[in-house]
Amino acid sequence: MSDHHARLPEGGLSVEEVLAEVARDRVGDIDWRSGKAFSLVYNAADDDLERLQHAIADDFLHENALNPFAYATLLRMEQEIVEMAADLLGGPQHAGALTSGGTESIFCAVQTARDMGLERGIDSPVALVPSTAHPAFTKAGHYLRLEVRRVPVGTDGRADVGAMVDAIDTDTVLLVGSAPCYPYGVIDPIADLAAAASEHDLLCHVDACLGGWILPFWEALGEAVPPWDLSTPGVTSLSADLHKYAYAFKGASVILYNDRSMLKRQHFIFDDWPGGLYASATTAGTRPGPPIAGAWATLHHLGRDGLIAKTRVVRDTAHTMIGGLRTIGDLHTVHEPDMSVACFGSPTVDMNAVADVMDTRGWRLDRQPDGLHFMVSPGHAGHAEEWLGDLAFAFANHGEAKDVFAPYSGTA
Ligand SMILES: *Cc1c(COP(=O)(O)O)cnc(C)c1O
Repeated sequence: MSDHHARLPEGGLSVEEVLAEVARDRVGDIDWRSGKAFSLVYNAADDDLERLQHAIADDFLHENALNPFAYATLLRMEQEIVEMAADLLGGPQHAGALTSGGTESIFCAVQTARDMGLERGIDSPVALVPSTAHPAFTKAGHYLRLEVRRVPVGTDGRADVGAMVDAIDTDTVLLVGSAPCYPYGVIDPIADLAAAASEHDLLCHVDACLGGWILPFWEALGEAVPPWDLSTPGVTSLSADLHKYAYAFKGASVILYNDRSMLKRQHFIFDDWPGGLYASATTAGTRPGPPIAGAWATLHHLGRDGLIAKTRVVRDTAHTMIGGLRTIGDLHTVHEPDMSVACFGSPTVDMNAVADVMDTRGWRLDRQPDGLHFMVSPGHAGHAEEWLGDLAFAFANHGEAKDVFAPYSGTA
């Protein structure tokens, strides 16, 4: 936005002027519809769905879900989303909530675990998470005064259950696993981790923010998926983002527990206020209607068949991309991805240099210390061959010697 608008404009601009200015300023933003962007937008490539989402967001633009009695429709939608999630992900009924995103779902799980620890007399509760767990755990620990210890993962990129068990001490309250983790797209050994948690009388959270709304359909396609959801003995809570592989627009995730008594710990009620009784089920106060109505409409429009169809497209495209990249020079996936998210690198070539060349061709791959990262959405389906062609070109023509880029690269 141009500088002169850093201050509240004296006179307002017309609708047309505002829209024209935004259109001008947006030119440099990543175009998620191009099929060349990764990770920030899960492009469903579905015109009907997009039409529905625009219409429903418009319908509920000004509604506020803070008071569930004022907008009973939003309350019902929210409850139905949570029940659908619980049904899909092996949880009991009435033991979950809709949140604004993965971070908020994880905050709720961490707060619940912290409070259960405090109640047991653990004054400095600790959560053990694999080194690949999302930063949201460390962030939640930072806000909520719970220490988050990161335990190095095994050589396969998956949580090292033995090392996590070794790290358990009298302050430990929570073990975490991901299904899958964001950096490598690998699923932690949830069954073993949850069994260890239950053996030591600890809570176990599964971060399925990424996989929660695709792994059930991945499995339905006949792919091997290890146990990971709330039906796995010992798993006590689970987070799953609707704004990722359920193709809802941003602002929707679920936190589910295996017991309603855990959910109640995140409920907040305050009755000593001149404004009257105040209650909330998650960290937010005022809550926008569009993400709730949008997620509900998306699940109802797609249904199980629609989500399976999208998963098939994602799987086939991921197989093409992952299989194809392995035929280019010495490129390889850093670990063996379980799903549609991967990190790839090379023992000889600086991947930042490869990414620089890819950038010139419009691709926006994410850069990690040990390689380049991508997550596949249906919007990539028509672009896999072009991506592979450009990747082969970039690999052959990255130009620069590796040591020139060494300061910027974590590649071994
Ligand atoms: C995206 C993600 C999160 C955080 O979710 P936000 O919606 O970005 O807050 C947590 N864990 C994993 C594995 C994720 O992919």
